[in-house]
Formats: sequence, structure tokens, C-alpha cells
Amino acid sequence: FSRLKAGLSRSTQKLSGGLSAVFTRRKLDDQALEDLEDLLISADLGPNVAAKVIDSFRSSKFGKEVTDEEVRTALAEEIAKILEPVAIPFEPDPAHKPHVVLVVGVNGTGKTTTIGKMARYYGEQGKKVMMVAGDTFRAAAVEQLQVWGERVGAPVIAGPPNADAAGLAFEALKKGKAEGADLLLVDTAGRLHNKGALMEELAKIIRVMRKFDETAPHSVFLVLDATTGQNAMEQVRVFKELVNVTGLVVTKLDGSARGGIVVALADAFGLPVHMVGVGEQAEDLRPFSAQAFAQGLVG
Ligand code: GDP
Repeated sequence: FSRLKAGLSRSTQKLSGGLSAVFTRRKLDDQALEDLEDLLISADLGPNVAAKVIDSFRSSKFGKEVTDEEVRTALAEEIAKILEPVAIPFEPDPAHKPHVVLVVGVNGTGKTTTIGKMARYYGEQGKKVMMVAGDTFRAAAVEQLQVWGERVGAPVIAGPPNADAAGLAFEALKKGKAEGADLLLVDTAGRLHNKGALMEELAKIIRVMRKFDETAPHSVFLVLDATTGQNAMEQVRVFKELVNVTGLVVTKLDGSARGGIVVALADAFGLPVHMVGVGEQAEDLRPFSAQAFAQGLVG
């Protein structure tokens, strides 16, 4: 929690600093509500969330004198209300051995890093984790995952450069079953020359894995980079067309002033936010907590 709080400090500054400027014992009138709405939009919570919060404030506190502290508390509650339904921690389902997680997202959002961190996180809970270097278009991605494998002590299934990712995933699933793995994390490419090619690549990985286990993949995590702000919304729309996204991971919340995007995502899509990235190190992955996040944001 302290790390999340530290990580969110720039997002907090943005919202919190703004709040102090708007509310220092003043009546919650139309002007104050309008200022609050602008502030929420500029902090990346998006126009829909801003409108919801304003409506709620208008019906419960309109015309009353409010302190900075009261507004802050009420705002944190409103945000937590939006986040609670999506704050769903991820646990591999023991019915699947292994539980296969396909990890998708635009290049550079933090897929490979998140897979490495997840291997450590679930490994520490006694789960047997395996990773698949399925981003075969980028040699560096394969090496990067192998480095993570060594760092966290989990096996990485990798092929030669430009290997067929679907074939690799198939082999890994076979191996995972044979070795009784709990969790199989499959990295994927994020930058194919067009949407159609990316869709075909992901569809092929899924189709081929299903030849071995027709229930795989059991989860599809879309990794989003918080620093891209509103772009993350568009990425969800695009990837939902490509593949059956079951949950989100939001990375780079450390040092980003755009943590509010998580609230906009929760409100717009209702997809589970399983965990958040708060740094580049192995331990910088946190289960997503609605209360902690809302408080961290508001300050
Ligand atoms: P991929 O292309 O989606 O696999 O992205 P990578 O995992 O290679 O990550 C891209 C860059 O973002 C790397 O330099 C990572 O160290 C960095 N990164 C990933 N997650 C986080 C995070 O939560 N915080 C910070 N500060 N950097 C991150």
C-alpha cells in the first residue's frame, strides 16, 4: 500500500492540489461543481465519471458549505464505489492445471515485465509457474523474458527467433500439463503490421492451444500503460474486438500523473482490474484495491 501511495503521488498531487484550490470552505454551488468537474476530467477520470460524481454531489450536498476535507472524503467514496466492482484479485483456478493466461497489449505497455512479476508473485505463493516467450517477433522480448525466468526462478519456454508462437504455446501447454504446473503465462506480440494480422496471430495461438485443452486460455489479460491516459480506453476497445479480454492490468502507475484513467476504465468497461504495476522491479506488482486506490488518488 505504501508503495502504491508513493507511486500514485503525482496523480494525487494533480487531483489533491486542485481540490485544495477549489474548496476552501466554500459553498458547493454551480461554479464549484463546474470547477470540480473540470478538475476530474483533467485528472483523466473522464467526462462520464466526472458527470456521475457531480450529479451525486449535486443531489447530496448542493448549496451547503463544505470543507476541503469533506469533499475529499466524499470524492474518495464515489471513486471507490466505481472501483469496487472491478477490484477482483486474480487466483489461478486449480481446476485447470495449468491455468493458462494469455497476456495481450500494445508493445511497450509492460506485458513481458508483468509476466515476470506475476511469476514471482504466484511463485512465492507456492504455485508452479511457467512462462512462454510468445512475442517471437521481437528477439529482445524473448531474451527479456529469459532474464526474468532466471531472476524469479521460473522456467521459460522459448523458441528460435521468429518461431511460431502458436506452436510454442502448444508445446508449453503440453509440458505444463505433464509437469503439473499451476499457471502458464503466455506473452504475445503487440505490434503486428495491422489489426487483422494481430487478430489472426492471437486467434491462431488460441486455436492451436485448444487442440490440446479446449478450455484454454482460461484468462486473457490486457496490459495497459497508465501514462498513455485516454489512449488506454481506445486500446481496450480495439483489443475487445480482437480477443475475449477477461481482465486488465494497469502498469506504470508509479510516477504517472494519470492514475485517474483506472477509474475511467472501470466505469466504461467494467472489466476486472486484477493488478497494477508500480515500478520496474520484480516486487512492483500489487493486487488492485479499490479503497487504497481511491484514497491514494484523492490524497
Ligand atoms: P511489452 O513490450 O509490453 O512486453 O513491455 P515491457 O514489459 O518490455 O515493458 C516496457 C518498459 O516499461 C520496460 O522498460 C519496463 O521496465 C517498463 N515497465 C513495465 N511495467 C512498469 C511499471 O509498472 N512501472 C514502470 N516505471 N515501468 C514499467
